[in-house]
Amino acid sequence: MIAISACLAGVSCRYDGNANTCKKAQELIKEGKAIIICPEQLGGMETPRTPCEIKDGRVINENGEDKTKEFIKGADEALKICKLYGVKEAILKSGSPSCGYGRIYDGNFSRIKIDGNGITAQKFIEAGIKIKTEKDI
Ligand code: SF4
Repeated sequence: MIAISACLAGVSCRYDGNANTCKKAQELIKEGKAIIICPEQLGGMETPRTPCEIKDGRVINENGEDKTKEFIKGADEALKICKLYGVKEAILKSGSPSCGYGRIYDGNFSRIKIDGNGITAQKFIEAGIKIKTEKDI
C-alpha cells in the first residue's frame, strides 16, 4: 500500500484552501493501491491556515508562532495510519514543511529552497517508508 499526500489526490487541504491535484496519484487511489493522509490536518491545524516553514528545527508560521507541536502530532498520526495499512511507500507533496522530501523552503518565507525534509517525510524515512514526490511519478 502507498500513502499519498491528500492534496495530491485533489483534497483542498493545502494551507491556502486549495489542492495540488495530480492525475497519476488519483489513479493509484482509484486502483485501490493507495490511501491519503494530510499530516497538517491530522495535527489539528485549520484550513486555510497561515503558512509555515522550518527554521532551526522548529516549525514557525508567517506570524512567528511556533507550530512544531502540531506538525509532530500530524506526523505521528499519519505514521499510525501508515502502520495500520502496511504502507511501505509514500508519494508526498514536494516543498511542504510536512510532506516535503529532499528540498524544503529555507524558513525565511523567501521562496528559496534548501536541502531538507518536512517533519512527516523525516518520520516516514526513519520508519523505513520509501518516499517519492509527485515529480517522480
Ligand atoms: Fe498536502 Fe501534506 Fe500539506 Fe496536507 S500537509 S496540504 S497533504 S502537503
